[in-house]
Amino acid sequence: MAYIIDGKAVSAQVKAEVAAETAKLKERGITPGLAVIIVGDDPASRVYVNNKKKACAEVGFASEEYALPAETSQDELLSLVKCLNERSDINGILCQLPLPKGLDDSTVIEAISPIKDVDAFNASNVGKIMIGDYSFLPCTPAGVMELLKSANVDISGKECVVIGRSNIVGKPMAMLLLHSNGTVTVCHSRTKELAEVTRRADILVAAVGRAKFVTADMVKDGAVVIDVGMNRDENGKLCGDVDFENVKDKCSAITPVPGGVGPMTIAMLMKNTLTAAKLQNGIE
Ligand code: NAP
Repeated sequence: MAYIIDGKAVSAQVKAEVAAETAKLKERGITPGLAVIIVGDDPASRVYVNNKKKACAEVGFASEEYALPAETSQDELLSLVKCLNERSDINGILCQLPLPKGLDDSTVIEAISPIKDVDAFNASNVGKIMIGDYSFLPCTPAGVMELLKSANVDISGKECVVIGRSNIVGKPMAMLLLHSNGTVTVCHSRTKELAEVTRRADILVAAVGRAKFVTADMVKDGAVVIDVGMNRDENGKLCGDVDFENVKDKCSAITPVPGGVGPMTIAMLMKNTLTAAKLQNGIE
């Protein structure tokens, strides 16, 4: 039976550390502030935004929500971002994606000041990740790295396979594993003989978006398996990209869904916002 990597416990630890540092900043008159923009009424986006606001309250941040109607124009959205960029009490800005039709995700992301881009999605922050000289890491891959650290997984020299090459998960995930001296392979929908590649992995990260896609025959004995997926199974129950019940007996460590990577994403967002507040106030 594999070691179950407990994302709830690790995320609670990260948030406790952020809360302790926030308390110290407040003694110096600084309260980290996060502005969250949500456009339209997508129910999943609403849940994510509520969870982010809840986490801000937990760690002692100020949070502001801007809930805009789906008919909001690109210019209106951009002028809100500009206004938030200029406010010294707002240290982090995030715009919940995807935006409704008619609004361009990347134009909005690029409008966020890089020092307030706590999702680390804009091109200058992505470029910094590439060269390994960054202030913020994208929250989900950063959360995976914390989980690996918590489970004492040594990445150096290991075969790492990432399934998925999205800009927000797969690509930065591969880069972080590479920075930790893993030997990294990135797979995607055109990869041939996928199972042969994944069976080489000492560390396998699944970020596919397909329920129970990674089956036991795709996993090497003793591998560490990280499941980023958040899907619904045939009964509407939340599940990951990994067939947890069958894979857990084969690997040495595995993250569950729910309770694995999911809680880490928000914890890392809190960490990024704290970093942003410190940087903007000239604190190391
Ligand atoms: P995405 O943008 O849809 O990317 C999915 C990736 O999977 C693509 O690169 C795609 O390849 C690849 N893929 C699809 N079918 C495949 C197949 N049959 N074989 C191999 N590769 C295949 O998704 P994402 O945003 O990266 O998210 C991935 C999953 O993580 C989703 O379930 C999402 O909900 C979840 N997620 C969770 C968190 C969290 O906090 N836990 C955060 C973000 C995302 P191509 O590039 O060739 O199309």
